[in-house]
Amino acid sequence: MNVHDSEKIAGIFAESGHEESTGKGDADVIVLNTCSIREKAEHKFYSDLGRLKKAKANNPDLKIAVAGCIAQQEGKKLFKRFPYIDFVFGPNNIDSLQTLINGNALATLKRHQPTFIDVNPDYPSMVLPVKRAGEVKAWVSIMYGCDNFCSYCVVPYTRGRERSRPSTDIYKEAEKLAAEGFKEINLLGQNVNSYGRKLDEDIDFPALLYKLHEIEGIERIRFVTSHPKDFSEKLIEAMRDLPKVCKHMHLPVQAGSDNVLALMNRKYTYKEYKEKIDLLKSNIPEIAITTDIIVGFPGETDEDFRLTMKALSEIEYDGIFAFKYSKRPGTKALELPDHVDEDNKSERLSEVQKLQENITYNKNKLLEGRTVEILVEGASDADKEKLTGRTTTNKIVNYYGGSSDIGKLINVKILDAKMHSLSGEKR
Ligand code: SAM
Ligand code: SF4
Repeated sequence: MNVHDSEKIAGIFAESGHEESTGKGDADVIVLNTCSIREKAEHKFYSDLGRLKKAKANNPDLKIAVAGCIAQQEGKKLFKRFPYIDFVFGPNNIDSLQTLINGNALATLKRHQPTFIDVNPDYPSMVLPVKRAGEVKAWVSIMYGCDNFCSYCVVPYTRGRERSRPSTDIYKEAEKLAAEGFKEINLLGQNVNSYGRKLDEDIDFPALLYKLHEIEGIERIRFVTSHPKDFSEKLIEAMRDLPKVCKHMHLPVQAGSDNVLALMNRKYTYKEYKEKIDLLKSNIPEIAITTDIIVGFPGETDEDFRLTMKALSEIEYDGIFAFKYSKRPGTKALELPDHVDEDNKSERLSEVQKLQENITYNKNKLLEGRTVEILVEGASDADKEKLTGRTTTNKIVNYYGGSSDIGKLINVKILDAKMHSLSGEKR
């Protein structure tokens, strides 16, 4: 989501005639688009900001802007603590940058203090310019904010209440992407399953998928993230029946213990979650499933943690993102008793990761010798001689091929499976 917000920020600059700097100290304006989901992301921002103080001292004309969730969370306090910051804007008023830049040379801009209290009510129906990072796959926001208030999570406070974009705007954006040659769209929302809930139109997420599926030129549709409590049979059927919808489901479980899930305010039990996974697997046998895990949530006992380990062994995810619980300002979990100490959290995290590495590796190994279809995205980061693409199940595949393959669906025979990628030869 932040990556895509950065594309919007870059789009606004590009539209107003600004160019990307070389990154070697020649920038007139630097925007730090921040994340506050965990403490580590915040630390990174503050150390980057510290480095910019020097840059500003060397070049007083340099403008420094802070965007994203820390901007929303800290608001005006940032100006007080770091007087060398020029602008602050949150994820719900990226458009304010447009007003700032339009008709002004950046150098003449006055310091700007947007309002932080309210989310811009018009933001969901705004169509902002986007400077996209690639040419094959594109992010498309379908909704903003979140109403779920998981007790550990800062998102509802920084990104505000859930609001869906009108489906016609999403459709037009996807059509434009297809006309520009993009082949894959990745629909973004904190809880895509509740798409449309507050819209005047009669539409839900599966219906949106059916609608977007019609667009000629778009070959693949992905989406993140789904909340298990709203993950429906209707969506499973849409995923099964729509060939362009990729056979990959990211369904964050967070924990395997019902006690912990209740404390997290996740509104499902592990049994309910597992039943949905079983239904998904029985409808779409080739489905790849990934998840998010939080270890060391306040009150998580050894016994609770064992239930998370059991869930991982039982479900056999294709991959996981695992995090140590991180205290977030203003969240309910802060007030819970029995916070887990840091060493214990670290031990649990490495235990989870070790177990999952085995599962992921063994699953990838099963693909050796098989021919898979990938959408080719471009040169591989690791080896520029090779091309890289993804299977419908979101596995990365590298192979030797010509640049004319980029943007095409190509069959590749898997020769070697590693933990994070597969390599193969073109068929
Ligand atoms: N909306 C999505 C959902 O409900 O799963 C994803 C939200 S969040 C951007 C991505 C992941 O970060 C979450 O699934 C959770 O595992 C993790 N996360 C959020 N807050 C956290 C915290 N305070 N400490 C550790 N991990 C956290
Ligand atoms: Fe955060 Fe929960 Fe909303 Fe996901 S569903 S963004 S974890 S509050």
